[in-house]
Amino acid sequence: MSLDVAGLRRSFPIFSRIPPPFHYLDNAATGQICAAAAEALTGFEMAGRANVKRGVYRLADRATQAFAEARGRIARYLGANRPEEVILTTGTTFGLNLAAHVLEERLGPGDTILISRLEHHSNIVPWQMLARRRGARLRALGVTADGRLDLADLDNGIDRSTRIVALTHCSNVTGAVTDLAPVAERARAVGALLVVDGAQRVPHGPLEVSGLGCDIYALSGHKMFGATGAGALWVRWELLETLPPFLGGGEMIRRVRIEDTRYAPPPHRFEAGTPPIGPAIAMGAAAEWLSGLDWQAIAAHEKSLTSRLLTGLETLPGVRICGPRDLQARFGVVAFEVEGVHAHDVCQMLDAFGVCTRGGHHCAQPLMEVFGTVATVRASLAPYNDAADVDALLEGLEQVIRTLR
Ligand code: PMP
Repeated sequence: MSLDVAGLRRSFPIFSRIPPPFHYLDNAATGQICAAAAEALTGFEMAGRANVKRGVYRLADRATQAFAEARGRIARYLGANRPEEVILTTGTTFGLNLAAHVLEERLGPGDTILISRLEHHSNIVPWQMLARRRGARLRALGVTADGRLDLADLDNGIDRSTRIVALTHCSNVTGAVTDLAPVAERARAVGALLVVDGAQRVPHGPLEVSGLGCDIYALSGHKMFGATGAGALWVRWELLETLPPFLGGGEMIRRVRIEDTRYAPPPHRFEAGTPPIGPAIAMGAAAEWLSGLDWQAIAAHEKSLTSRLLTGLETLPGVRICGPRDLQARFGVVAFEVEGVHAHDVCQMLDAFGVCTRGGHHCAQPLMEVFGTVATVRASLAPYNDAADVDALLEGLEQVIRTLR
């Protein structure tokens, strides 16, 4: 059965509020909020608001339950073994920084952290900072000419000094999906931990995180059609139990004396202070809603749109795609350059056609270097996009090229 895209669009409030032409192709930056998440958020804020884990009155108890339920829903979407493996955060960036702090004691001088040139800055800078703090080395796996992680580099990249491997599951620039299995195998063989940046993978359907072979997995709610301000960090339970706290404060303790503190068990040990309650509840609602979709139909739909986009771009003069041109092991994130025209100018002109794209380095400057550029235009697809969105982009580009080149 083909996907009912019109029906899907009705599940996103923005499409009935912004008049046409409106072609939202910046989903890798943030997805639109689905009605289920928007209703959960406003429901909490307008009729259910209380702080969690504190009050004994019924309203507070309901808020605490809704928060716990959100954790359960996210855990189910991720395929976690238990909800307690899920730390609720403010997003991928926070989660990766949290990971880089709680793993600090496991790293010493001479040890290596392995990342790649495909990473978003949030999966580079925290590890760079950690390496500096501990006198460790940071190495980066290379990228193939078409913007995929170069797994041939793996044998050189991982050795006995490797303690942490941190890689993206899907590139926010090229859409390439990382084959984690061989990486997990090599990491395990040398006793290294595998941390995965799942920010761009999670909008594309439920997963089996426990079976990926990784130890830590970071994600953002706003990229999977929830509200901004919430995210999650999954950590394999056997590892999580052994990790020290990150931030100190309320809610992460069992008992505090002036002399010392006993910490709460995970995940609360890692959730100091008032969490982003409404956004977390919205993220849970989005996860639940996503779990009920027909992902086979969505995958086929996204594949056909990606193909339409790639084929269209290839026929335009002066356009260079920075990433894979094939449809294997990739999602619909496509970066490209228009020869002689700055990416920001392209995006600004496309906006006149109602086409929302992103121009810049996409927080991936080391990858831009690989492509020999400083900025690209990026179009990124979501299940609610249709052929009209892709065609509007291609027609707009044709005009840009005619006007500016
Ligand atoms: N990693 C990747 C691959 C991303 O695309 C992004 C967001 N662009 C992030 C990490 C950071 O996510 P957030 O800004 O939600 O923390």
